[in-house]
Amino acid sequence: MSVPLLKLADRPVLVLFSGGDAPGMNACLRALARLGINRHNVPILAVRQGYRGLVEAARQARTVDGLASLKHQIETSTGRLGLIDRKQQLILMDHASVSAIVRIGGIILGSARCKEFLQPAVRAEVIALLKELNVRGIVICGGDGSLAGAELLAKESNLKVVGIPATIDNDLDYTEMALGVDTAVNTVAENVDRFKDTAKSHRRVMVLEVMGRASGELARLAAIASGAEMVVTPRHALKAADVTKLAESLAAGLRQGRSHAIVMVAEGVAFEPEIMRNDPRPFAVPDDPDQPPAQPVLRNRAYVLADAFQDYFAKTDDLNDLEIRPSVLGHLQRGGDATPGDAILAAKFAEAAMRQVMDESAGNGITALQYGRVKVVPFGAEALPDRQEIMSSMDDLHGIMSSW
Ligand code: ADP
Repeated sequence: MSVPLLKLADRPVLVLFSGGDAPGMNACLRALARLGINRHNVPILAVRQGYRGLVEAARQARTVDGLASLKHQIETSTGRLGLIDRKQQLILMDHASVSAIVRIGGIILGSARCKEFLQPAVRAEVIALLKELNVRGIVICGGDGSLAGAELLAKESNLKVVGIPATIDNDLDYTEMALGVDTAVNTVAENVDRFKDTAKSHRRVMVLEVMGRASGELARLAAIASGAEMVVTPRHALKAADVTKLAESLAAGLRQGRSHAIVMVAEGVAFEPEIMRNDPRPFAVPDDPDQPPAQPVLRNRAYVLADAFQDYFAKTDDLNDLEIRPSVLGHLQRGGDATPGDAILAAKFAEAAMRQVMDESAGNGITALQYGRVKVVPFGAEALPDRQEIMSSMDDLHGIMSSW
């Protein structure tokens, strides 16, 4: 084991976790720290609370003697000591500070959303600070928004910036999998088992809403993994005729002897007003950072779909007493221990990111899983050419396996 370098003069690599947290982020932090210290012989400077931590540190540096005291704090309060002090935004990591976190969900550094970072002047202050701190490169782990911020940092500075995609939504189409997806699929599938037990006992239809923002990928993968009977993913806004077709297919299964049905609906699914029962309440916005958490006055998709199914079944002669129960899994999907699959992907992404940052001849980019191999693709990379095709064939596969 090498002795960790804990001086800014040794030109640290900055590591930052931002936006919606995803299981596997801690495994990624651990891998970045250990690879930096053990393989590349470079200090790893971790940021608390994503871009907000950087903005706060830049603000601290602008006060009288601020920069000197910030540097002193970074070099004297290192590792676990730095992690304990919640006011310290930048922490030089050592081996022990990332011990025993490989499977833990969330991110020990905390994550955040930071509107100020959208302002070019604020980013310029952050870039100036990073230069003062001798930072040689940056690794940013997060979703779509965080990686957009990473691209701007790369454009506006001459620092090397490498992104690592982490989001349970799996909505970054240049990578087959983002960090956190495997765990979230696992969590949804586990919960479907629980819903199944109760749905079977009462011969019910359970409508289960899952996360994913505008993407149906989490719902699609979880439906295959759990054997859910139906999955509704965002495409066009659903009309009454579309819902009737779905209800007819559920009814056909139940008439042929099916004991229950689990319908998975992605949170990004939209409906035409005709099936909203003239209810004026707005929808809960899928995990919108600028909105407070969904209030009871907001409706979730699962409730709209369950109401529409209930209306359909009430008009049948033989299934008019069938109960439809909606449920929203919500933030349960974001937590939990990372699966081994995510812990392994985290290590591979971290390895590729560290190599890219340390290779002076290499450019900026984002780590991606393409056809089973980890690569670094440029910011703004095209979608994998057959991504749509893969998704349609997954829908097909699910449809065939769940038809009765
Ligand atoms: P996620 O990374 O999970 O998609 P967000 O979209 O909320 O989460 O983005 C996280 C943070 O990334 C934002 O709060 C903001 O600080 C930064 N960010 C997002 N989009 C941009 C952008 N276009 N330019 C600069 N920073 C951005």
